[in-house]
Amino acid sequence: MDLAPLISELASIENSTAPEVLAEFGKDWSGTMESRASLVVFPRSTQEVSAVLRACHARGVAVVPSGGRTGLSGGAIAAHGEVVLSLTKMNQVRHFDPQGMTVAVESGMVTEALHQYLEPHGLVWPVDFASKGSSTVGGNIATNAGGVNVIYRGSTRNWVLGLTVVLMNGEVLKLNGALEKNNTGLDLKHLFIGSEGTLGVVTEAILKCASIIPENKRQVGLASFESFESLLEFFRTLRQTAGLELYAFECLTNQCLREVERLGVRSPLQNPGEIIGLFEFAIPFVDGSPDEEAFFEKLASVPGAEDIVLAQSPREKKEFWAVRERVAESVLLDSYVHQQDLSVPVENLLAYVKAIEKKYQESFSEFEVFIFGHIGDGNLHIFIRKPAGWTAERFETFCVESDRMLFEETAKYGGSVSAEHGIGIHKKPALAYSRTPEEIRIFRDLKRVFDPKNLLNPGKIFDLV
Ligand SMILES: Cc1cc2nc3c(=O)[nH]c(=O)nc-3n(C[C@H](O)[C@H](O)[C@H](O)COP(=O)(O)OP(=O)(O)OC[C@H]3O[C@@H](n4cnc5c(N)ncnc54)[C@H](O)[C@@H]3O)c2cc1C
Repeated sequence: MDLAPLISELASIENSTAPEVLAEFGKDWSGTMESRASLVVFPRSTQEVSAVLRACHARGVAVVPSGGRTGLSGGAIAAHGEVVLSLTKMNQVRHFDPQGMTVAVESGMVTEALHQYLEPHGLVWPVDFASKGSSTVGGNIATNAGGVNVIYRGSTRNWVLGLTVVLMNGEVLKLNGALEKNNTGLDLKHLFIGSEGTLGVVTEAILKCASIIPENKRQVGLASFESFESLLEFFRTLRQTAGLELYAFECLTNQCLREVERLGVRSPLQNPGEIIGLFEFAIPFVDGSPDEEAFFEKLASVPGAEDIVLAQSPREKKEFWAVRERVAESVLLDSYVHQQDLSVPVENLLAYVKAIEKKYQESFSEFEVFIFGHIGDGNLHIFIRKPAGWTAERFETFCVESDRMLFEETAKYGGSVSAEHGIGIHKKPALAYSRTPEEIRIFRDLKRVFDPKNLLNPGKIFDLV
């Protein structure tokens, strides 16, 4: 298609067709597909976004909304000559209400920049994970991102009050404003949260903030377990009977720990068992109350753990977290890795892990399988490393098979084939493992309501057939 008339119409809005810009902005961090973007536009206001979408709509040109491009599912990839609508120049705070603890921001604001803005006020937008230095608020909303504190704070959805959304025909919707309570019918903003840019482009958001939990009210522990079963017993007891308020509960296998140690990260556990748990919790006292010793004794008596070490300083807290947070990086180091992120209800975790471990041993014994994740949310990351001597093609063929096994087991245990990155392009064939035909039909019906010409991020999540 000749884009010259469109480019001419959009001349007042920053845009580029430079090959390096097209290459960069038309793909995400999965790096699995090359960009075939035809134009990248950088609007600076909701009005400009509306003008771009209206112009593309009139000409039948498809558009891919784009944030920090940190997703790994291909949601932000422009694979078919689409126009990329980058929100990165819309990155300002529009309004801050310290009394209501809300902040209105443009959707291209980087997640960590928002944290930095709120910190001096003692507040945080509690969406926090490793890619926060590049991901944007709009991308977080479009993927309903979670993070390390989901067990305590929930996902992005819990922290969004209002949205400004532009539909493909250029229409602007203002949804809910800053209202915490609004019982006047359907709360339409929720349709856009997690819709991966397929229904509308989020340009502004009014977000709820939480108080920062002071460092001296948080404690971090690492514990060693002989089995996944013991880890889950420990987790259950911590939550149900030890009365601890958990901020995070994470795990990694001993195999993952050995990888992390390749990066020079040291675990304080003397003889780590098969599984390592990391837990962060609210200290039920502040520095040196008389209850401190009794509390530690109580913690040590919680069944399941072979060994528990609590951080003795803020620096140690960070070091303990590094043991968990650097797993992905360490497994990826010098390796060709196939990765999945999945979730099942916590009560099914044990049976699920046993089932998939058995299947990997039976049918894919050549693979090195690394399991780690956010146990408190039932969310596991599964990384598989290409065996030495295998070609990438042979490995990928086997991964298709092993993914099928994984998705079948995930469905069997009531789980989701994507717990974090969305469906995008890459997980489209897996959607039916987690969603019923009736749900997918309604997805398509909704798509036709908001984008009847199928021009906004077409072919992402599902095809409109
Ligand atoms: C190292 C690493 C760790 C990660 N950890 C986590 C984690 O713990 N939890 C988690 O949930 N995710 C995680 N992710 C995935 C990713 O960072 C999140 O999905 C993030 O929310 C994506 O934000 P983004 O701005 O980069 O969006 P992009 O990747 O640019 O886009 C993601 C999707 O959102 C759409 N989109 C982007 N902006 C808008 C907008 N303004 N309006 C409408 N649609 C839009 C895009 O079209 C695309 O479909 C991780 C990724 C990496 C690389």
